[in-house]
Amino acid sequence: MGSFGESCGVFGAFDFEGKAVFSHLYWGLIAQNHRGHHSYGFAEVREGEFTSYRSLGLLPPVRHPVIRRLFRNFRSHVGVGHVRYATSGRSTRYWLIRDMQPFLVGREEKIALAFNGNLVNVKELREELKGEARGLSPSSSDIELLSRKLLRGMRNSDLVSAVEGCMRGIEGAFSVVGLTQRGEFFAFRDPLGIKPLCYGCSPDNQTFAVSSESAGLDINEFRYESEVQPGELLIWSGEGMRRERIVRGERRAFCSFEFAYFARPDSVLDGGKPVYKVREEFGRNLAREDPDLPKRVDLIVSIPSTGDDAAYGMHEVTGIPWERAVRRHRYVVDRAFISSSEEREKIISRKINVTETLRGKRIAVVEDSIVRGDTSRRVIRKLRMAGAKEIHFYFTFPRILSPCFYGIDMATFGELIGSTHTEEEIAHLIGADSVHYQSLEGFVRATGMRREDLCLGCLTGQYPTPLAQRIADEMRRRFQAGEVERGRVYEVE
Ligand code: SF4
Repeated sequence: MGSFGESCGVFGAFDFEGKAVFSHLYWGLIAQNHRGHHSYGFAEVREGEFTSYRSLGLLPPVRHPVIRRLFRNFRSHVGVGHVRYATSGRSTRYWLIRDMQPFLVGREEKIALAFNGNLVNVKELREELKGEARGLSPSSSDIELLSRKLLRGMRNSDLVSAVEGCMRGIEGAFSVVGLTQRGEFFAFRDPLGIKPLCYGCSPDNQTFAVSSESAGLDINEFRYESEVQPGELLIWSGEGMRRERIVRGERRAFCSFEFAYFARPDSVLDGGKPVYKVREEFGRNLAREDPDLPKRVDLIVSIPSTGDDAAYGMHEVTGIPWERAVRRHRYVVDRAFISSSEEREKIISRKINVTETLRGKRIAVVEDSIVRGDTSRRVIRKLRMAGAKEIHFYFTFPRILSPCFYGIDMATFGELIGSTHTEEEIAHLIGADSVHYQSLEGFVRATGMRREDLCLGCLTGQYPTPLAQRIADEMRRRFQAGEVERGRVYEVE
């Protein structure tokens, strides 16, 4: 239950029989609303005309008047949708509105785009694309730069070449779904495949969909076909489906944080095991890596919901009872534009409830990660109020030492508690009796992926792209020299 920003979720669909796909878009995004609460949106194209609807906040329930109206009005056989958490760009209400996706851009030729990720070479792209703002509404999000680059490529050539230009000229993470004015539906993923993207098909093979997570396909009862491969472009049109591996990189770099925190437990990532199986293994590892655990604690408690499966794994190995004494208030969610930090604090604390069964107990608390420490501190306060005698924290994600440049809201060294403090200091700061992280080796093994196929940038300080590495090295140098960090160097200079 991290206190930091989630990534975004995308979904798009194409029906070869001409049936409306809005229902698939809606349910595909409902299944992925955990990836973004700031805004949601839909776009479709019918006979060269785009229709879109975007709004702040959580996607409303299906019987909500707005959604009922969208079901009536969105009738096209091709469309895309998006849920957003602002990890790039500004978070004021004004910019949250401007940055809502799908992004509808272009003059002579229009496209609709929705993406999950973050671009790194923004300074260079801004310079390169200075003259390309025609037909673009201002946005503070990276989607604007991506759109400009893509539109320019399409004007000079075709969609395939334009996507190739993006893949070769943009450094960063981008999993994209989009529509052209001609009614094509396309999806592509950066050459390292940093963010998830997969596609599937309806049982009658007539409707195809692309989704950030496989849970978006499952809810529509679609068959999971495959990942969109890193560097791959898929296009659906009246002529059929086309799949092209445009750039074949030397390695992949899938975001390891997806396994610990972002993804739904019932999703499969990069064609591997279900995420909950990986998390169970995280819990087993934490238990194996701390042989004194059974002597130290009477009870395992998980922080819902990302800690639950790992707590089960820990319970399996140690035999220590696991009690779900911490519960989440299901309908308490962050509002999109809460201005005061005091109000935000109250909301985080209202999110969970702790039962009194912990009185006098020594507990092992299983949690996904610790970034800044403020959420853990609040949780511990509640656990102490419920009478817990000793609190030992176990994190499934190894210690976060460095910022993320690919779309996760961890921008500076100074804000990362793991980068500035030892485990003992962290325990003291958050009010725990001890703090334990899963080892990096155990974490990688549990994912079932090869180490070189994962991004471990925030854990090791070794990034999969060259500019991110240079920026991180420069930020670290300045931080160690005692300079005040005002954000990422490319954002503040
Ligand atoms: S740096 Fe960390 S959070 Fe960012 S993409 Fe890499 S693994 Fe994920």
